Amino acid sequence: MRNLTDQDLAHLLDTPIFHQIGKTADEMGVECYVVGGYVRDLFLERPSQDIDCVVVASQSVREQAGEERPGIQLANTLGKRLGRGAHVSVFRNFGTAQVKYHGSEIEFVGARRESYSHDSRKPIIEDGTLEDDLDRRDFTINALAVCLNEHRYGQLVDRFDGLYDMEDGIIATPLDPDITFSDDPLRMMRCIRFATQLNFRIEDETQAALSRNAERIKIISRERIIDELNKILLSPIPSIGFIELSRSGLLPLIFPELAALEGVEVRNGRAHKDNFYHTLEVLDNVATMGGDLWLRWAALLHDIGKPKSKRWEPVAGWTFHNHNYLGQRMVSSIFRRMKLPMDERMAYVEKLVLLHMRPIAIADEIVTDSAVRRLLFEAGEDISDLMTLCEADITSKNQTRKQQFLDNFQLVRQKLDDLQARDNYRTWKNPITGEEIMQIFGIPPCQEIGQLKQAVKDAIWDSLIPNEYQAARDYMFAQAQKMGLTPVQDPSTLENSKQ
Ligand code: ATP
Ligand code: MG
Repeated sequence: MRNLTDQDLAHLLDTPIFHQIGKTADEMGVECYVVGGYVRDLFLERPSQDIDCVVVASQSVREQAGEERPGIQLANTLGKRLGRGAHVSVFRNFGTAQVKYHGSEIEFVGARRESYSHDSRKPIIEDGTLEDDLDRRDFTINALAVCLNEHRYGQLVDRFDGLYDMEDGIIATPLDPDITFSDDPLRMMRCIRFATQLNFRIEDETQAALSRNAERIKIISRERIIDELNKILLSPIPSIGFIELSRSGLLPLIFPELAALEGVEVRNGRAHKDNFYHTLEVLDNVATMGGDLWLRWAALLHDIGKPKSKRWEPVAGWTFHNHNYLGQRMVSSIFRRMKLPMDERMAYVEKLVLLHMRPIAIADEIVTDSAVRRLLFEAGEDISDLMTLCEADITSKNQTRKQQFLDNFQLVRQKLDDLQARDNYRTWKNPITGEEIMQIFGIPPCQEIGQLKQAVKDAIWDSLIPNEYQAARDYMFAQAQKMGLTPVQDPSTLENSKQ
């Protein structure tokens, strides 16, 4: 965080648009402040897209304006001032307006006082002072305001020592955290989201209030929860958020499948690893490796099938057979419930969950061409992401074993590159079609056709024959003969099969 005096702030906000806002406010006889995330991010030197402004109008100015809300009025006047190039959108129901100007989006709203009743998320909103407005904000670091009126340009209002909290890296609510969270339980998700994005610590009282109010998250819509969860996932160290979600008791409420990964069971002195913490390690690895949101989702869900597949076997100990398959089948119900897109992005996550052990299984043995080809074929264009996920999944504490895996993994990558260059197995098609086989042997659709096609595929993929039509046809004929099939076609076209 950098220290900024009011003069520094005036300098940072020294752009035509902010001055125009200040001048408009002066003319209207109202106060105007830039507030919240934009101010916070000035201190933290983070890029910030949206700008929020609060307009404070005295009782007499409000009476003069009649029905027109102060935020809307300022936005409209500003829009006229800026002329062409400014675009004003008014949201009358919310009493807000947005001005778009040269790539900036500025939202205007009148200062508000809010009061909540227990069983609803909808507060009663009244006009208020700047102080009222800052009181209802979620965190001290989000309750900073900078004045834009010309005579106070750049003056910081910091009612709750937000600067100190920013310096110490602390997330705390301005007022009693129990009230803040109970009034709007989404703030609990935001709390954990900001702690994760900024790598800040949640202040103890605020932390305790999270646990006490966790149940209230149930009144928040899935859409708003998933927005925050995705922001946690996209943070530099996403595990911070999931650990806080677990610690506060929110995790089982919003994501029971993930909570079920937690814990270690011991039998006969043998323990399995804690799959929750393992998953978080994989997720952090994928984040470090630059994975996008969907690769991060795949990392989060890669072992989601483990609790369902867990068995104790006297000799082998703990096993999780088919957990990848069970996990793949859980993806769609999770996506549906969480209001995540059920399109090709979900199919991608399903595919990665299903295949997440394949590269490592290959790397564990002698790395053959045919195994790598099969992998390439099944993963298709997602092969590189699958390799990233699989490499991230190597979290063994045994350094020798880990190094061995990583070395073998390099070999798989090398072979993938070689093969991709040599023959394009990603879009591989069997040179022999079912129709062709039916025609040649005069047979209806039957099992033998599938067997012949599979035999050709195996032969090509195991490098027994080249990936070419003539070789495939010859091979198919030889196999068919063994199965007792005889061709019905004109023998002159079947020259290659005669022996
Ligand atoms: P980001 O834009 O990075 O998500 P932000 O802090 O700007 O972070 P916004 O959702 O854009 O978050 O909200 C802007 C400001 O409005 C916040 O900084 C905060 O002061 C206030 N705010 C937003 N949501 C809430 C809420 N649920 N309860 C209280 N105050 C809120
Ligand atoms: Mg914002």
